[in-house]
Amino acid sequence: MDISLAPSLSGKPRIGLFGGTFDPPHVGHLVTAVNVMSALRLDLVILMVANVPWQKEHSRIITPAADRLAMVQAAVATVPGLLAGGWEIEHGGPSFTADTLTALHDEYLDGEFFTIVGDDAASGLTTWERYEDVVRLSQVVVVDRPGAPVALSKDIAWVRVEVPRLEVSSTDLRSRFTDGRPLDYLVTQPVLDVISQRSLYGATLKVNS
Ligand code: ATP
Ligand code: MG
Repeated sequence: MDISLAPSLSGKPRIGLFGGTFDPPHVGHLVTAVNVMSALRLDLVILMVANVPWQKEHSRIITPAADRLAMVQAAVATVPGLLAGGWEIEHGGPSFTADTLTALHDEYLDGEFFTIVGDDAASGLTTWERYEDVVRLSQVVVVDRPGAPVALSKDIAWVRVEVPRLEVSSTDLRSRFTDGRPLDYLVTQPVLDVISQRSLYGATLKVNS
């Protein structure tokens, strides 16, 4: 696991796992990650890039995993405590949080784990592969996204964290590329640079300097 880059973890590390497709990563992800990290005094939050997002793979074309990882690496590069996770991509196949948490537990035998999800993802958590393992191996942290409240399973002891609710989604951002509407302030500049360099989402290559 690429968490060896976690610098000075001593004692019982508190580790957040924030999984997603990140197609592309946006300020909603970053604001959520840093606010949960602060609220729960986590040592780090790993933005784990799904290899094959099993819930989405049949509904649309997903940007290649390596490009999504490059965008997440760019997004977190200057943010203390946030890490880009490449383990699910290295592991290959469909990405199941239960497997990722098991691998993290093997790496950090004394760690405490927090699985972070938006409420849309939380509402489907009991359909996740071996979700019982997710609940056993971590505390599940849920943040609200804008919109109507979502019904959550009463069987799970959710930890709720209030973060600024930003009405930003990767789906909207992808359609902004298609329509030519601006992405400024919704996606950070380092991510926009990767998108441009790799010509993702039909972006035409802009030459910087
Ligand atoms: P898509 O529209 O393609 O589904 P997304 O914006 O929902 O993209 P994902 O990669 O699917 O992003 O989400 C990863 C995780 O981040 C999920 O738990 C999701 O609920 C959460 N998340 C995404 N956007 C926000 C946001 N604006 N605020 C809080 N959580 C968010
Ligand atoms: Mg989503």
